[in-house]
Amino acid sequence: MKIITTPSEMQAWSRERLIAGERIACVPTMGYLHEGHLSLVRRARTAADRVVLTLFVNPTQFGPGEDYAIYPRDPGRDRALCEAEGVDVIFMPTAAEMYAPDASTAVVEEALSRRLCGASRPGHFRGVCTVVSKLFNCVRPDVAVFGQKDAQQALVIKRMVRDLNFPIEIIVAPIVREPDGLALSSRNVRLSAEERKSALGLSRALGMAREAFARGERDAATVRRRIEEELAASGLRTDYVEIVDTGTMEPVAQLAPGVLVALAAFAGQTRLIDNCEL
Ligand code: AMP
Repeated sequence: MKIITTPSEMQAWSRERLIAGERIACVPTMGYLHEGHLSLVRRARTAADRVVLTLFVNPTQFGPGEDYAIYPRDPGRDRALCEAEGVDVIFMPTAAEMYAPDASTAVVEEALSRRLCGASRPGHFRGVCTVVSKLFNCVRPDVAVFGQKDAQQALVIKRMVRDLNFPIEIIVAPIVREPDGLALSSRNVRLSAEERKSALGLSRALGMAREAFARGERDAATVRRRIEEELAASGLRTDYVEIVDTGTMEPVAQLAPGVLVALAAFAGQTRLIDNCEL
C-alpha cells in the first residue's frame, strides 16, 4: 500500500494506472476509520481495479466554533485498517498542500444544499463540494463511493458531478450500524457513556417513524413532532428533524414510500446525524 501526500504525486500515480487501462475507485473520508468506511472500501473494490482512500480532515467544511480542532484523528490505526482491506493508496495531503494561502475558488451547489445540514452549518457544503472536486482532480477516479449516512451530501455530490461533467460514477452505500442501532461515526468516540445511551434516541426515533408509517400514519408534521419528543426524552438536543423528498431535499407534508427522514441532534457537545428512507 502506498501513502501519497501531495496532489502532484497522486495525479502521477493515477495517470499511470489509467494508461495501464485500470479503473480507479475513490473513497473520500476524514479518517478515524470504522466499519462504515470499510464497507465503502469493500464496495469500491467491487467496482474498480484500484482503490484510493482519501484521508483529509477538511478545514473548509467546518464552521467557526465547530469541532475541526478536536475531530478524532489516528492515522497510524487508519493505515493498518486500510492495509488489511487491501487499499492500494491512502491519499493524505496536509491542509497546506491542498489550499494555497490565497486560494479564491470554490464550488457551490445552490439548491440541494440549502436545507438540513446546509441550513444548520452555513458554508458546510461549499467546503464539501470544493474539497471533493479537488480530491477528484487529484485522484481522477472512474467511480467514487459515498455513504447513505450523509444522505444529503451524497445527493449534493451527485448533482455536482452531473452539473460539472465530472466523468465519475457515484455509488451510495448503506448505513452501517452498531448492533444496538447507533449509526457508526468517527465522532461516536467522543461520547461519554451517558451520551452514548442518549445517542440511541436517533435510531430509535427513526424506527418509530418507520413503524408509524407502516401502521398507516401519513402526516409528516405528526411524525416530526413525535420524533422531536423522542429525541428530547432521550436527552438529546435537536438540531433538525426533516421529512423531505429524496430527490429535492424539500419538505413533504405527506409520508410516502421513499421519503427521507433526516435527523441531527447533539449528545452533549457532539453533533450526530442519522436518517432513513421510508
Ligand atoms: P467521514 O469520514 O465521516 O467524512 O465519512 C466518509 C464517508 O463515509 C462518507 O461518504 C460517509 O457517508 C461514509 N460513512 C460514515 N459513516 C458511515 C456509516 N455508519 N455507514 C456507511 N457509511 C458511512
